[in-house]
Amino acid sequence: MAKEVLDCSFCGRKKPETNLLIAGINAHICDKCIEQAHGIVLEELKSSGHSKLSNDLVLKKPREIRAFLDNYVIGQDQTKKVMSVAVYNHYKRLMQKSHEDDVEIEKSNIIMVGQTGTGKTLVAKTIAKMLDVPLAIVDATVLTEAGYVGEDVESILTRLLQAADYDVAKAERGIVFIDEIDKIARKSDNPSITRDVSGEGVQQALLKLLEGTVVNVPPKGGRKHPDQKFVEVNTQNILFIAGGAFDGIDRIIGKRLNRQAVGYGASKNQDAIDKDNLLQYIIPKDIKDFGLIPEIIGRLPVLTHMDPLDRATLRAILTEPKNALIKQYQKLFAMDDVDFNITEEALDFIVDKALEYKLGARGLRSLCEAILTDAMYDLPSSDEKVLRIDRTYAQDSLSRNLLKRLEIAS
Ligand code: ADP
Repeated sequence: MAKEVLDCSFCGRKKPETNLLIAGINAHICDKCIEQAHGIVLEELKSSGHSKLSNDLVLKKPREIRAFLDNYVIGQDQTKKVMSVAVYNHYKRLMQKSHEDDVEIEKSNIIMVGQTGTGKTLVAKTIAKMLDVPLAIVDATVLTEAGYVGEDVESILTRLLQAADYDVAKAERGIVFIDEIDKIARKSDNPSITRDVSGEGVQQALLKLLEGTVVNVPPKGGRKHPDQKFVEVNTQNILFIAGGAFDGIDRIIGKRLNRQAVGYGASKNQDAIDKDNLLQYIIPKDIKDFGLIPEIIGRLPVLTHMDPLDRATLRAILTEPKNALIKQYQKLFAMDDVDFNITEEALDFIVDKALEYKLGARGLRSLCEAILTDAMYDLPSSDEKVLRIDRTYAQDSLSRNLLKRLEIAS
C-alpha cells in the first residue's frame, strides 16, 4: 500500500505544498490556514471591542488610576484627580456599545496648564504606562500648516503609529501628548496681514484630529518619502492631552479676578485668593483670552492646572517616586557593589540650589550628576565599597563642577 500523503484538514493542501503542517488529534493544519485564522481572531476581537486592552481597562477605577499616578508623580492633586476621571471616562467611552441608545459619550480630551518642569509630560507618560497603550509626545511648535516649512499636523499620527509598532488598531486607542500648545496661540487679536502660518491655521488643522476623523497618515512621516503608501488612522478614540506653560496667563486670570472683585456680585473672599498660584483659578475663558480658538478649547473639555513645585515637593521628587533619582543612583552604584547613601542635609542642599538657581525638577538631575560624577568615575576601579554623601561633600563637589558655570550664567 502506498504511503499516505498528509494534507491540511482546512484547505486540503498536500503536505509538500505547505511550509509547515501541524498535527492535531484527528486533523492537520497548514501554516497558511494558521495565519488566516489568526487574522480572523484579531478582526473578531477588534469588532467586538473586547480586546485584551479594553477588558483590562474596565477594571481600573479612578481611585486606582490615581494610586498608580501617586507612585510616580508628587503633588499635583487636582490634576491627578481630574485626569483619573477623564481617563476612566475616556475608556468607558470605548466600551460603549454603539447605537444601543441615543446617549453618546463624548471625548474627554485634556488640557494641562502649568509651568515647564512641573510634571505635565510625566503625567501623560505615566497614564500611558499604566494603560499599556502607545504614547506619542509631540511639540506643537514644529507644526505648521500643510505646505509650509515644518511638520504637517498628520505627523503627530505618524509618531503614534511608530509608537504602536505600526499596529493601526493599537494606535487608534493610544494617547497623544501635545506639548507647548500655547505656542500656537494667535499672537494678537488683530488678524495680521501676513498669514499666521504657525498659529490659527495649525489650530484649525488640529481641530479635525481632536474631533475625530479618518486621516491619511504617511507611515514614515515627513515629505522625504513621497512614494510611501498612506495608512488610514481614525482619531475618534485617541485620547489627546495638551500641555502648555501659557506664560503670562496668570495676569489674565488676575485681571479677571479683580474685575469680579469690583463688579456686581463681587465675592467678599478676595483676601482668600492665593496670589502666588493664580493658575488654580483658571477657567476656559482665560485660555481663549490667551489666544486659543474657542473650537479648540471646546475639544479639550477637561481643563486642569499644575501647581508650581515648592521646596517640599522638590525634596520628595528626589527620593519618593518609584524611579526617584536617588533610587536610580543607588542602583547604578549597587551594580559596582558600592553602597550609596546620602544624608538629609545633602538632599536639602540640592533642593536649595535647585530653588536658588530656579532650575526646577529638571535641575535636580543636573545637580546630582555634578555632585556624583567624580565618584561614578573613580569608584568602579577602586576598592572603596561605601559612598556616603554629606552636605560638605555635595557642596565641594558642586562648586568644583557646576556652580561656577551657573554663577556665570545667572
Ligand atoms: P513638563 O512636561 O511640565 O515640562 P516634565 O514632566 O517633563 O515637565 O518634568 C520634568 C522632570 O521633572 C520629570 O521627568 C520628572 O523627573 C521631574 N518632575 C517634574 N514634576 C514632577 C512631579 N510632580 N513629581 C515627580 N517628578 C516630577
